[in-house]
Amino acid sequence: MREIYLDYAATTPTHPEVVEEMLPFFNQIYGNPSSIYQLSQRAKRAIEKAREKVADLLNARPEEIIFTSGGTEADNMALKGIAFANRKRGNHIVTSKIEHHAVLNTCRWLEKQGFKVTYISVDKYGVVDLDELKQSLTDKTILISIMHANNEVGTVEPILEIATIARERGIYFHTDAVQTVGKIPVDVKSLGVDSLSLSGHKIYGPKGIGALYIKKGTRIDPVIHGGHHERNKRAGTENVPGIVGLGKACEIAMQEMNFEADRVGKLRDMLYQGLKEKIDEIILNGHPQKRLPGILNICVKYVEGESMLINLDLEGIYASSGSACTSGSLEPSHVLLAMGIPPEISHGSLRFSLGKDTREEDIERVIEVLPPIVKKLRAMSPFGKK
Ligand code: PLP
Repeated sequence: MREIYLDYAATTPTHPEVVEEMLPFFNQIYGNPSSIYQLSQRAKRAIEKAREKVADLLNARPEEIIFTSGGTEADNMALKGIAFANRKRGNHIVTSKIEHHAVLNTCRWLEKQGFKVTYISVDKYGVVDLDELKQSLTDKTILISIMHANNEVGTVEPILEIATIARERGIYFHTDAVQTVGKIPVDVKSLGVDSLSLSGHKIYGPKGIGALYIKKGTRIDPVIHGGHHERNKRAGTENVPGIVGLGKACEIAMQEMNFEADRVGKLRDMLYQGLKEKIDEIILNGHPQKRLPGILNICVKYVEGESMLINLDLEGIYASSGSACTSGSLEPSHVLLAMGIPPEISHGSLRFSLGKDTREEDIERVIEVLPPIVKKLRAMSPFGKK
């Protein structure tokens, strides 16, 4: 049985060229980049080369890129770092109800430290309510954090508009772009953001590495204290293989992104059409157009997402029923609830996320396998559907 991986939004396999590029940095060029001898300086140069590649993908300057241990740390650094560095100016932060927990739980922690946080609503497609956002701003607002695209439903947020609102009022604007970098064009200059987080393992790079773009001049405190690494912004001996791998992943993404977005978008539409024809009462979640090409999120009425996942798993098909971080708990997705989907329908959500190795025959197989699973589960359903 061929395994069909459709959970690329949770993580991706590391690209073979990325692995190859990383290998020498484990046991050949292993010097500590802070040391002065040649072995270490080679490692240092590799870090700076990788920084240039990450910066290139974002249209940023290399000195505006800080390497972190991943998307979660980059979000933590942006929110906590900007909040504390600008505390004298105000204590109000604005975010949305559909952020990843890396942002939401950081905001909850900041509330305990005396900051006030407003959580903005979204419409039925998961688009942030710009009027509510504007009205929430006060002279104490120091930071807005809105994700570039949502990891569960793929809706792309109006970042440009939010950046304009923030700039007019002198408020910092952070965006969590973990799901967009390498998937759709992300240009920090044209988006007008002050900081932006990204993660290696979502773009065929290794796990445990990410980066935070910080626009020159942004007031931000470090979150991790220690040595003078990363321009005094993030202490700790650099994860050299990880950084090199992230740089390579960005370089590959730059070359392949447009073609892949187009290819994967067509397969996603084929999947939705095929499922819609064979399964009645399914709902498409997320914006019908302003959506990431690789994500298809649906609700299948009268069945549990988890039951569908287990049955798909038995067929060697791997998907998700929400974000990877929340699956395992049977809480309905906070994203779907914020979009106004009733809890009983939210429970029947499935997320397929497509990527590099997804082929047409994989999609055909899902279209063949899922409808009988749904039929079987509905026959057993306590909700009494058919
Ligand atoms: N932000 C978003 C939108 C994500 O999808 C994820 C990962 O699922 C993260 C942040 C966390 O990134 P990492 O796994 O690199 O910590």
